[in-house]
Amino acid sequence: MRRPLLALLCVLPILAADPKPAKTRLTADLEYLTSKELAGRASLTPGATMAADFVAKQFREAGLHPGNGDSFFQEFKVTANTLDGDKSFLRLGDVTLAAKNAFTGAFHRDLSLKTEAVFAGYGITAPEYEYDDYKGIEPRGKIVFVFDREPQEGDPKSVFLGRGLTRYANYRSKLRNAQAHGAVALVILRSAKNRSVSGAGSSPTRGNADRQIEEGVQIPFVNLNEDAAGKLIPNWRSLQEKIDQTLANVSFRLAGELELRLVHSKFREGISSNVVGLLEGSDPVLKSETILLTSHYDHLPVRGDNYYPGANDNGSGTVAVIELARLFHQSGAKPKRSILFISFGSEENFLLGSFHYVDHPLRPLAATSAVINLDMVARDEAHTATTQGRLKIAGDTRKSMNLVGTEYSPQLKLSLQRANRRIGFHFDEKFEKEPTQNILFRCDHYPFLLADVPSVWIFGGLHPGYHEPVDTIDRLNFNKLERAIRLSYRTALDLANAALRPAFQAKGRP
Ligand SMILES: [Zn+2]
Repeated sequence: MRRPLLALLCVLPILAADPKPAKTRLTADLEYLTSKELAGRASLTPGATMAADFVAKQFREAGLHPGNGDSFFQEFKVTANTLDGDKSFLRLGDVTLAAKNAFTGAFHRDLSLKTEAVFAGYGITAPEYEYDDYKGIEPRGKIVFVFDREPQEGDPKSVFLGRGLTRYANYRSKLRNAQAHGAVALVILRSAKNRSVSGAGSSPTRGNADRQIEEGVQIPFVNLNEDAAGKLIPNWRSLQEKIDQTLANVSFRLAGELELRLVHSKFREGISSNVVGLLEGSDPVLKSETILLTSHYDHLPVRGDNYYPGANDNGSGTVAVIELARLFHQSGAKPKRSILFISFGSEENFLLGSFHYVDHPLRPLAATSAVINLDMVARDEAHTATTQGRLKIAGDTRKSMNLVGTEYSPQLKLSLQRANRRIGFHFDEKFEKEPTQNILFRCDHYPFLLADVPSVWIFGGLHPGYHEPVDTIDRLNFNKLERAIRLSYRTALDLANAALRPAFQAKGRP
């Protein structure tokens, strides 16, 4: 028997039209954010403050409530320091290694440590892979040496997601793990064996010049080069070989005391801030749970005569999150769970804003259902010097969108796929298993993955002109930007009203 009326009742609410992003508003927002006046919105510059003020004003006008008490800002202290390569050193017995020849790094203050040291393999504790480099050593109060990256990288049969990289392969994960084990400093041996082509997201590669550090980073870390590593741990290559072949624990205590001195030649201090606006949920119980819609507003500092407008990176994600706030307001949709809109500061400085948020969450992380992060969503992906010959990129990418991080939450991916039925993107998941570009670690969704929160980076992909002065509005694909906004709106609404929250799956897909 046909029951047309019932069918109609069921179908109607699902097909109700979502509100449409307004190109005029997106353009006006982008024109301001990319203007010469804001000079690239770099962390700790007046342009960044102006951008943050602008985002807060838009959040308020869109009807959001302050996300941090009565404030739209979550401030954090940042220092920009330059290490003195002559005065900073590592010393073990009669071997002294000056920073200028041996390591890069910086901390938020000068520091002198003399204590025991342990070698802790790759510095990874991963119960889901039954792997723990800290087993059998006592790292408390000591300096910890680790390899960068992860074991068996490049081996398709590796338990660490085959040729892909897990969330443990990045130095920030190792730093948090060392900190959790009570270490007082972390020394990362950067071996050529596992070095990716991009480097940018893997380990700090900007030398010792002006590095921004947030105060929440409690212990210092330095990146030691291979030559220097050989002087402190002569057999490090065979140790690495042994772990990679057998996943054996080879950790041990180094003989003698190690001295680490960090002296900075230049200090700058300043305040950066995340911008936070809240749409409180309508359900008396579920409103304590939160969906995050995020982006970062900062970009790069002026160099010489050039300023970097950053229209795609990340003007696009910034205006998308602003527009999403407006659309939720306009539509009158009353999501059951709360939605927190965040525009992070200092992303271009190793994700300082999002790491600060994860260390100081404004809504409990355990009740944070999912993070939808938008960064670089308005350009068509195309090969750059670092991707050529390493990635497969389709000839026509006008309708493509990369998803990054959903390996850790199949349900979040399903929600995106459901939402996408009316948007029509071709989802590209190549970066979930791609070891050369470090994409998993390069954006604000990453700190949340470390905290076991389902998170996705909606990412248009790399393109020529990325991080160059030519990242301008006239090169954007507005159709893609609008569809990224509609996708995020639909997914956030779906997650906010769903009966169950997406689960975090630590192991990722085998
Ligand atoms: Zn970005």
